[in-house]
Amino acid sequence: MSECRAWAAGDPIMEEYHDHEWCKVSHDDDFQFEMLCLEGASVGLSWRTIMHKREAYRTAFHGFRISECAKMTDEELEAQLTNDGIIRNRSKIFSVRKNAQEVMKIQEEYGSFDAYLWAYVDGKQIDGHWKNVQEVPAVSEISEKLSKDLRKRGMSFVGPVITYSFMQSIGMVNDHLCDCEFREAGEAADPVSSDHKVAAEQTTRVTVQRSTDRSEERRKSGGRAMEDMVKKRNRLLSGRIISGLKSRNMTGYFAEDAEEAKKIALSLIPEGASVTMGGCMSAREIGLVDALETVKYNFIDRDRYEDKRQAMLLAYDADVFLSSANAMTEDGVIINIDGNSNRVSAIAQGPRKVILIVGMNKICPDADSAMKRARNVAAPINAQRFGQATPCAKTGACMDCKSPDTICCQFLITRFSKHADRIHVILVNESLGF
Ligand code: SF4
Repeated sequence: MSECRAWAAGDPIMEEYHDHEWCKVSHDDDFQFEMLCLEGASVGLSWRTIMHKREAYRTAFHGFRISECAKMTDEELEAQLTNDGIIRNRSKIFSVRKNAQEVMKIQEEYGSFDAYLWAYVDGKQIDGHWKNVQEVPAVSEISEKLSKDLRKRGMSFVGPVITYSFMQSIGMVNDHLCDCEFREAGEAADPVSSDHKVAAEQTTRVTVQRSTDRSEERRKSGGRAMEDMVKKRNRLLSGRIISGLKSRNMTGYFAEDAEEAKKIALSLIPEGASVTMGGCMSAREIGLVDALETVKYNFIDRDRYEDKRQAMLLAYDADVFLSSANAMTEDGVIINIDGNSNRVSAIAQGPRKVILIVGMNKICPDADSAMKRARNVAAPINAQRFGQATPCAKTGACMDCKSPDTICCQFLITRFSKHADRIHVILVNESLGF
C-alpha cells in the first residue's frame, strides 16, 4: 500500500475520505463551504475527530447550505453550544454564520464561490507528482494569498495551513503520491509549480527544526503520514512517561485525541464537584471547559469574577483543579512557570484533585530541556498572549529578565506527590497549548 494512505488506514471513515474525496475536484459551492467549515473546526484538534463528527455537523448546520447558514439566528447558534456531537467552541460555531455571509458576498461578486476559488489556480488543478510524503507541503504561496484575502473579508479560522488543507479537500491541489492507487490526475496547471517546490523546501527545513511542535501543520498537509509516525512514537513513549508518573505517586493516562482526553477527564470529575482552573488553554482546546459549564458541575470561571483574589481563593478550596504543564520530562517530572503564582500554588497544595491536560508537544527528554522549553517557548508566547512588556515578548526567547511584567516569578517542579490519587496527568497525542 502506498504511504499516501497511511494517515487513513484502519479507520473506515478516514479511508473513505482519502479514497473518494481528498484531492478530488469539486465545483460545488455548498460542498466547498462544508470543507472550509470542517477544516476550520479542526484547528487545535485532529482531522480524524472532525471527520467522525461530520454527520452531526451537517445536521447542526443545515447540511452546510450556505444561504441557510448565513441566516442562522443567535439562538440557533447558542443551542449548538450544548450539542455534544460537534466541537462546542463558541468562536468556531459562530464563525460558520459569519463565513457563510462573506461567502454569499463572494458569490455576488464572482458569480459563485467556485469561480472565486478556482481563479487562484487558473481553473486547473495543481498536481505535485510527489513521490514521498516528506515532499508534500503544508502551505503554499497560493494558500497564503487565499488566506489573506479571506481574512480581509472578515472570515475566521482560515489561516494559510487551513486553506492549503482546504485546497486539497476540494481538489485544487492533488497531493496523492504518484504510487497511490486512489490518485486521479486532474487537468494539471503545472506538473510541479515553482510555488509548490518552494513551499516543499520550506516545509522540509522547518520540519527538521521542530518536529513535534509542527504536528498540527503536518496534519493539515499531505504529510499526514508523517504525523502518524510522530503519533506512533508518542504512543510508544507514553508508557515510559506513565511509569515515571507512577513512580512519583501520580497517575498518568494516554488519550489518542482531544475527545478521548475529555472523556477521561470527565470520568475523574464526579457530578456536582466544584471545578476551577488556572488559565489552561489545553482544557479549552479539548472541549472540557464547555462540558463543565453545565448544571452537572459547579464550574468556577475566574474570568467571570471581578474580584480576582476571591476567585483565586475559591480555587484553593475546589474539589478539582485543572491545568496544563509548560513542559514535562519523559520520566514524569512536571514543570510550570507562573507570574501570579495562583496556578503553581494550586497545583502544589489546595484542591483535592489536580488534573493536568498535557499535549505530547510538551514532552522533553530531561529536566534541563524541559526548563529550556518552558522559558524559551511557553513563556515568550504567554507573555505575548497576555500583552506583557517583557524582553521575551519581543525577542521570542528568555532574556532572564526582572521586568515588572515578568511571568516567571515562580517555577514549580513537581517531582513527587505526597498524596496518591491527587495529581492525574492526561497525555494527549496532539499538539495542545504551547
Ligand atoms: S524571565 Fe523574563 S524574559 Fe525570561 S521568559 Fe520569563 S518573562 Fe520572559
